[in-house]
Amino acid sequence: PSEPNRDSHVAVLAFPFGTHAAPLLAVTCRLATAAPSTVFSFFNTARSNSSLLSSDLPANIRVHNVSDGVPEGFMLTGNPQEAVELFLEAAPEIFRREIKAAETEVGRKVKCILTDAFLWFAAETAAAEMKASWIAYYGGGANSLTAHIYTDVIRENVGVKEVGGRMEETLGFISGMGKIRVKDTPEGVVFGNLDSVFSKTLHQMGRALPRAKAVFINSFEELDPTFTNDFSSKFKRYLNIGPLALLSSPSQTSTLVHDPHDCLAWIEKRSPASVAYIAFGRVATPPPGELGAIAQGLESGKVPFVWSLQEKNMVHLPKGFLDRTREQGMVVPWAPQVELLNHEAMGVFVSHGGWNSVLESVSAGVPMICRPIFGDHAVNARSVEAVWEIGMTIINGVFTKDGFKESLDRVLVQDDGKKMKVNAKKLKELAQEAVTTKGSSFENFAGLLDEVVKV
Ligand code: UDP
Repeated sequence: PSEPNRDSHVAVLAFPFGTHAAPLLAVTCRLATAAPSTVFSFFNTARSNSSLLSSDLPANIRVHNVSDGVPEGFMLTGNPQEAVELFLEAAPEIFRREIKAAETEVGRKVKCILTDAFLWFAAETAAAEMKASWIAYYGGGANSLTAHIYTDVIRENVGVKEVGGRMEETLGFISGMGKIRVKDTPEGVVFGNLDSVFSKTLHQMGRALPRAKAVFINSFEELDPTFTNDFSSKFKRYLNIGPLALLSSPSQTSTLVHDPHDCLAWIEKRSPASVAYIAFGRVATPPPGELGAIAQGLESGKVPFVWSLQEKNMVHLPKGFLDRTREQGMVVPWAPQVELLNHEAMGVFVSHGGWNSVLESVSAGVPMICRPIFGDHAVNARSVEAVWEIGMTIINGVFTKDGFKESLDRVLVQDDGKKMKVNAKKLKELAQEAVTTKGSSFENFAGLLDEVVKV
């Protein structure tokens, strides 16, 4: 490894939506601890920063609140994509300004810009304007990254018009994607609005990433060996440094055990592999009717449960449900997901298929039932079901009372579920190996550190 530059200053740019910023901050903490003479300026919106559990950050991390890009007086319609697009459009200028200010405050030029991969414009800002290097963190898995890297290839093969009739075809023309169907690709690759700011951003990201000095993801090589091989030649450096859930200690931000509703005391009294944990991440919620179906499925199947559900959605629960299920389970606005998944009473994770959730389930060896909602959820759900065979997509594709009850029975009781569990446990072992001092992720983190701090 090269000598660390004693005066380095790294700018870290977060994408402030969904669960992107928390893992990036966790990685920044590890880097900052390992490189105490480097200053890390972490830029994120005030709102996203306030949602990252506060804890003692290393002294060489400076957290900055930046504008969310919403013009003054602008009335958001409530469509989540709108806020994302306003931010993406304003981001280059916001970050340019903020980085300049931080350079003055710290008294050191920024030599390395480490960003969420969605902020691909850093490729240009870094190289042309700042003479800095660009390192990108992709917040999803290698499966969705492949869909974005190969967007042009997928469009050539499948077309972008009248794809409706080709939804069931598989992407066998891309290595590692033989089980992924057209319909599993994220919106904006071949269907949906290809011209939205968001779709264009992901397409441009796919084209820009090969120019990054390194691309890293929260995963482990052994989970997707084919993609690992492919990206190792496509990118200058491709580093799997996860699963972060197995690495971050409570002092490293997001995994601080936060259990205000005592879910862990509750699960302690349940029998092994019996509990269903239901959660859909920070942004996605199935439509109200499906929330009702989840409740009915749980009640009629008598499955013990912990359900993480935002307070504002609790009105959609059937009348009397909370009272009737007081003994059977708990509905809480936030749950200590990683700790619950790692409890021996955990039987199944019912999820939207967000990347962090999938990897946390893999790391805990817990089978999944996925109900994809948007973005990379469908490709993740498909990988869970058909590639890793550690779970299933919800019967009927959406929650219905009987379909959910039957899905729960399949995973918790039937032989099928036993196989899923065996496969999940195998992946858990590989994940645990990857983060030991002899493992691939440990080595890859050292590589990342080297890229970030070396002269
Ligand atoms: N999470 C949690 N408690 C909850 C709900 C979610 O700790 O009650 C965490 C979960 O552990 C995961 C993240 O929130 O790390 C959700 O990330 P994911 O990528 O699955 O979904 P997103 O929020 O990006 O849709």
